[in-house]
Amino acid sequence: MKTYGHFIHGGEVSAVSGETFPSYAPMTGEIVGHAARGSAADVNAAVKSARAGFKAWALLPPAERERVLLRAADLLETRADRLTDILIDESGSVITKARAEVLYSASLLRAAAGEARRLYGDTFPNDKPHRLSMVFREPLGVIAAISPFNAPLSLLVKMVSFALGAGNAVVAKPSEETPIIALELAEVLHEAGLPPGTFNVVTGYGAEAGVALVESREVNGIAFTGSTSTGIKIAQSAVKSMKRLQMELGGKNPLVVLKDVDIEEAAGIAAVGAFFHGGQICMSSARIIAEKEIARTFAKALAERAKRLPLGDLRDPQTAYGPLINARALEKVKRHVDEARAAGAEILSGGETYRGLVFQPTVIWDPPRVCSAWCEETFGPVVSVVAADDLDEAIAIANESDYGLSAGVLTNDMARGMSAARRIRCGAVHVGMHSFQSDSMAPVGGFGMSGFGRSGGKYSVEHFTELKWISLELDKTPLPF
Ligand code: NAD
Repeated sequence: MKTYGHFIHGGEVSAVSGETFPSYAPMTGEIVGHAARGSAADVNAAVKSARAGFKAWALLPPAERERVLLRAADLLETRADRLTDILIDESGSVITKARAEVLYSASLLRAAAGEARRLYGDTFPNDKPHRLSMVFREPLGVIAAISPFNAPLSLLVKMVSFALGAGNAVVAKPSEETPIIALELAEVLHEAGLPPGTFNVVTGYGAEAGVALVESREVNGIAFTGSTSTGIKIAQSAVKSMKRLQMELGGKNPLVVLKDVDIEEAAGIAAVGAFFHGGQICMSSARIIAEKEIARTFAKALAERAKRLPLGDLRDPQTAYGPLINARALEKVKRHVDEARAAGAEILSGGETYRGLVFQPTVIWDPPRVCSAWCEETFGPVVSVVAADDLDEAIAIANESDYGLSAGVLTNDMARGMSAARRIRCGAVHVGMHSFQSDSMAPVGGFGMSGFGRSGGKYSVEHFTELKWISLELDKTPLPF
């Protein structure tokens, strides 16, 4: 069984304490490997290395940064089988999700490579005619990238690639559930020619390595993808040293189903939105609001599909999804379902553990809109369906949430679909599709408790650069005294 060190200054380094922690395969409970247990001492070493790496990296011509990122994309694809295997074992992903994640990560690296060349500045007409002004974009410096477990490669790549493309150095702290895939990414970037210090990984727990990274005075910006509760803690701490923050947090995403849809087709789309990766996706369709004429029939059609989904065998391409990440996640899913049941909701499918950490695909009919299954992020294979009188009420119910990450609207009437899309308060609304969509060039992020800042394509550049105004006096300027 391999023991992995941190990745600092271009090489593997043991924890200063010498301690390690196990990474488990959620499907089998077996240990996939051991990783260094990071503390403040390890974080300080990584940040020091990043500061040194930043100096040289920021000065490289954009074409050089582009070249490294493109090479990394190619390498990632060359290693797709190995990385897919690690994702299957370490994060409990099914093979189709794992492979798609690797390919999407390569696409993100290429998008970031393109952005490296597009750090455009600006000029503007000055109030004072004797002044010439220019606006430059400069990298922030050292970025802390703190990532979650559910798509542990692509979500990390999304932060890291655009940060590097803009000329920053990065210290990553991956989820304690999935440290190994982050270390594999470090190897790929290293082999692609990224200079030592430009990308570092400190593995360990949020309360230890994560807290130390957020508190570090030498970190200039934080890109965080994870739960809203952790995001709040990080923001509270980071503001003390005025770090730039990008927060991609949780969601409780609505899918509005209008009465003109083909019920079977809509149920098929909703099943993917709700059950892809067992609902462990920030943008999962978790709250379905259907017009009353079709709501019950639609919910039953969705439940029938749910009952037929093949579960558990991660290496079979037909398998819909595998396990939840750990026992705590399973307990939360059970609690949400039990509370809805106790509150009088009808469980149309599932509602129980399938085996191990795999929970059955669960469709809840008409839960009270105050219970946890409706209001809180379940992050499991559980979806609730309620009926709305009409489009206006459906939108009002969709907006009854503190979150605002992503939404879907199913209809064949594009005018009603667009009207709904403009009125739903979310960072993204997908008409004709469920709420879970990704695109390397799209601005991904949330309203409300789903966070702030947008990532993807040119939108990431906003987060990872500072604007600087430089002016030049063209004539002798009259001075006030
Ligand atoms: P989490 O918040 O528990 O952990 C995320 C990361 O933060 C981990 O690396 C963890 O070690 C670290 N961390 C924990 N406490 C910390 C602290 N006090 N200081 C610094 N770092 C700390 O999230 P998770 O359970 O790994 O992931 C699931 C959550 O992520 C869900 O809420 C999901 O919606 C969200 N998510 C959001 C997006 C998005 O794009 N909006 C994408 C994927 C996941």
